[in-house]
Amino acid sequence: MKIGILGGGQLARMLALAGYPLGMEFMVLDPAGDACARPLAQGIQAPYGDPAGLERLAREVDLVTYEFENVPAEAVARLQGQGKVFPGPLALATARDRLAEKRLFHELEIETAPFAAVEDEESLAAAVDRVGLPAILKSRTLGYDGKGQVRIGADEEPRAAWRALGEVPAILEGVVAFEREVSLIGVRGRDGAMAFYPLAENLHGDGILRLSRSRPGDPLQSRAETLVARILERLDYVGVLAVEFFQVGEQLLANEMAPRVHNSGHWTIEGAVASQFENHLRAVAGWPLGATSPTGHAAMVNLIGEAPPPSRVLKIPGAHLHLYGKASRPGRKVGHVTLVDAQQSRLEERLADLLEVLGEGGETGE
Ligand code: AMP
Repeated sequence: MKIGILGGGQLARMLALAGYPLGMEFMVLDPAGDACARPLAQGIQAPYGDPAGLERLAREVDLVTYEFENVPAEAVARLQGQGKVFPGPLALATARDRLAEKRLFHELEIETAPFAAVEDEESLAAAVDRVGLPAILKSRTLGYDGKGQVRIGADEEPRAAWRALGEVPAILEGVVAFEREVSLIGVRGRDGAMAFYPLAENLHGDGILRLSRSRPGDPLQSRAETLVARILERLDYVGVLAVEFFQVGEQLLANEMAPRVHNSGHWTIEGAVASQFENHLRAVAGWPLGATSPTGHAAMVNLIGEAPPPSRVLKIPGAHLHLYGKASRPGRKVGHVTLVDAQQSRLEERLADLLEVLGEGGETGE
């Protein structure tokens, strides 16, 4: 089976690495000539919305999936016309627009931070009245890794934030004093079967995910599964879906969802029986899902900006190093390291060693 992927970054690369043992082949469409999945796949270099590129992709592959949600919805709709794209256009259109996403959460009785739509200075003033300050102004589309967001302090002028964001359609969100950020990765097959990984607990810095820990047996697991199952069913979803939540007391407030494999699920490569990448492929191919059960406690640390020399990471017992083959650049995810251990305490010791090696000793949230 040949799978086409819109986007040729590290997620496409890890999908390909998971798919080869299943006998799959890959073709990626990406505007960049040096996209890091290219060494593992046939490639088309074209903008995501390019009709000729999409046409060729559709002709040459059995089905199409994507590794990020900022592909034009029309491009996916065009492929859908040929019954070839998973997850489908409704999931994509919802997940790429923060307002549509939040409205879906509310329709499904999933709680969120207070929010209001902002289209111009008038609606900005109304949103501030409704949500209050401090708040975060987020662009409705094209935001990722903390980009497309401006915080507005209690004494700040909201219009300055609106200008800083570029006066684009946005939502204003109340700042949540959360205890934890967690994400749940679920997968739904073409036959409607669903499976969920253990919750991941996530630490961000500058809007970028730094560290994820799997939390097998977390008391909020079944609550989170109930909420994500509602989304999967409502969207008639096929593939892996990640939903990020803020935990406040016993409450889970949905922040956003990603209609694809997700950075907070990279630990599943070694920390679960079947990884999120394998399960995404099994789902879109219409095959039975793999077990999502954990193989131990897992922690994943992102390598951001530049990767350390491999030998320094690999001297830590049980460290799994994943380098994406990307050039160093500040703020860029160039790889990750996963640790898995049957004992939580030993995992934490090795994690402390790893963070030391990476020059990031200190804040681990434990
Ligand atoms: P997002 O792109 O929405 O995932 O935001 C990136 C990060 O900013 C989140 O993971 C949080 O750490 C923080 N953040 C986003 N929205 C809020 C909010 N409403 N309240 C508090 N922190 C937030």
